[in-house]
Amino acid sequence: MAEFTMELNDEQKEVRDWLHGFAADVIRPAAAEWDEREETPWPVIQEAAKVGIYSLDFYAQQYFDATGLGIPMAMEELFWGDAGIALSIVGTGLAAVGVLANGTEEQIGTWIPQMYGDPNDVKVAAFCSSEPDAGSDVASMRTRAVYDEAKDEWVINGTKTWATNGGIANVHVVVAVVDPELGSKGHASFIIPPGTPGLSQGQKFKKHGIRASHTAEVVLDDARVPGSCLLGGKEKLDERLARARERAKSGGERVKNAAMATFEASRPAVGAMAVGTARAAYEVALDYARTREQFGRPIIDNQGVAFQLADMRTSIDAARLLVWRASWMAVNGKPFTAAEGSMSKLFASETAKKVTAQAIQILGGNGYTREYPVERMHRDAAIYTIFEGTSEVQRLVIARTLSGMPIR
Ligand SMILES: Cc1cc2nc3c(=O)[nH]c(=O)nc-3n(C[C@H](O)[C@H](O)[C@H](O)COP(=O)(O)OP(=O)(O)OC[C@H]3O[C@@H](n4cnc5c(N)ncnc54)[C@H](O)[C@@H]3O)c2cc1C
Repeated sequence: MAEFTMELNDEQKEVRDWLHGFAADVIRPAAAEWDEREETPWPVIQEAAKVGIYSLDFYAQQYFDATGLGIPMAMEELFWGDAGIALSIVGTGLAAVGVLANGTEEQIGTWIPQMYGDPNDVKVAAFCSSEPDAGSDVASMRTRAVYDEAKDEWVINGTKTWATNGGIANVHVVVAVVDPELGSKGHASFIIPPGTPGLSQGQKFKKHGIRASHTAEVVLDDARVPGSCLLGGKEKLDERLARARERAKSGGERVKNAAMATFEASRPAVGAMAVGTARAAYEVALDYARTREQFGRPIIDNQGVAFQLADMRTSIDAARLLVWRASWMAVNGKPFTAAEGSMSKLFASETAKKVTAQAIQILGGNGYTREYPVERMHRDAAIYTIFEGTSEVQRLVIARTLSGMPIR
């Protein structure tokens, strides 16, 4: 187990500087254009693939870094560049982690390379769980997967919504109900291979922020996939369902919710994205406050402005510390006895919303225009309190964990 540290080692500093260079030189200059276009920035993803940032190898290296700081450091730098473009670069990772966490070695080896493609022909992947009537309440999911034993195929029907890269992905990972009696314990994940008949894109959403990231509905209409596309395989699923039925019969003994443990481990990464956006806005505001003069002196000479900057920086540093702690706990298998993963996401996302609003205020009229990036950063920041569990859901999880109540 690695000791908790607040200091990046030399190798991590090198990676951080390299990522920062990419964020500053490639992502940031393209941010306003792709925000206006509201399209996936394929050329930027390709650039990231060419230098090795858009690849499973890169994420695996950061993911398995025993200090736990690899992923938060990478997310913070890329999202410092621009949240929409960075999400287009890291969105595939959400689907890849779904396969890494639940797939067999063969599934990992077959599907993850197809999610990324190669630098000359980049692909993206989508993770599709949310539905129109199942957002925070995942147990209300309706998309149904039925096994056709004669053909060894699964037949999937339903509508997914809010899928990042939905419909434009080469590979979709879809969560569906296999046993409706078991609530969220009766769900399973499936690979939908490229070109599967029956999968189509529904509406593409026009969003408030992160507009360079594609978000759409995914419709599954009798989509048939081979039995081998069930993540983890049929035998493991049957065992899991049998255990869940047994527990349900014996009065629902409280068990650790595996999905919740996964969320605790993945939420700090979203917290780190929020830290990146907050830091970006704070830096613009600090720079502006030092140079903008009113009443014959820089506006930072007013305590009303300087104290705001002091609060902004304090919150950002506090958010980063919560994120780093939770990431270290996740990598080192520490139990999240106080939902520390959710805490980090809650605090960092609320910080990003607040800090980006303060940045607009410090830039005055300029902050309110698209000539300056803080307006975009504020729109982008609003997503962090919504996806991967809203702030209310984070509070619910923290409160239930503290009180010992079951989290469904
Ligand atoms: C840009 C974007 C990208 C996304 N990407 C993906 C993706 O790639 N894959 C995917 O599967 N999903 C994705 N999502 C979906 C996202 O995770 C959901 O939007 C989120 O979980 C909230 O669900 P909902 O939108 O249905 O809101 P609802 O669950 O309807 O919530 C509405 C409001 O009610 C509150 N609320 C709900 N229940 C409670 C409660 N018990 N107590 C207190 N308050 C409550 C919520 O906090 C919220 O404020 C994405 C969403 C967006 C906007």
